[in-house]
Amino acid sequence: MENHASIEAPANPATPDERRYRDADGLITMCIGCHRMQQPDTDNWDVIPQWEASPPDQVTGGLCIPCFQEQYARYRPRSDDAVA
Ligand SMILES: [Zn+2]
Repeated sequence: MENHASIEAPANPATPDERRYRDADGLITMCIGCHRMQQPDTDNWDVIPQWEASPPDQVTGGLCIPCFQEQYARYRPRSDDAVA
């Protein structure tokens, strides 16, 4: 008989360092569009699957640059429409 000892998944080696993502107020900014996490004071937005599944405390919503541009493009009237 095989004895299947409970094998726990190893701690995820890619667990991010929260301190890298907290701003001066202790908040982490998550893009509401794609759920990337911003590194404070940078334009770096990182995909962190662990946090998408279970976000850390004190997360605030934001928009990363690609998502911002996408939203902006969506609501911006097309210039063709303005031509009489
Ligand atoms: Zn985004």
